[in-house]
Amino acid sequence: MAREIDWSKWQRTPRGWVRVPPGGCPAGHRWTTSGPGRPSERFVTCGCTVDRHHTLWVCPTCGMHCAEGCTDTDLWAGTTVSSGIIGSRRGLV
Ligand SMILES: [Zn+2]
Ligand SMILES: [Zn+2]
Repeated sequence: MAREIDWSKWQRTPRGWVRVPPGGCPAGHRWTTSGPGRPSERFVTCGCTVDRHHTLWVCPTCGMHCAEGCTDTDLWAGTTVSSGIIGSRRGLV
């Protein structure tokens, strides 16, 4: 199954194409597309979608792990996210 690429979520930089992060974390911290305000980008395996995959944004201010397009943080595979990232440290964006 080919994955549709939504190019509106990407930006071109001197380092190549990078994802544009969402506007901020659920706790209200604003994110930027570059510099220290940019969340770090990871991936998480999750059972809520057919492709079982989300981009995971880590807030640089509070450290909350936020899955993009996710509907249920309880379905994250524990092996794909650091231990200790549970409950309120998980968010949805
Ligand atoms: Zn935050
Ligand atoms: Zn999910």
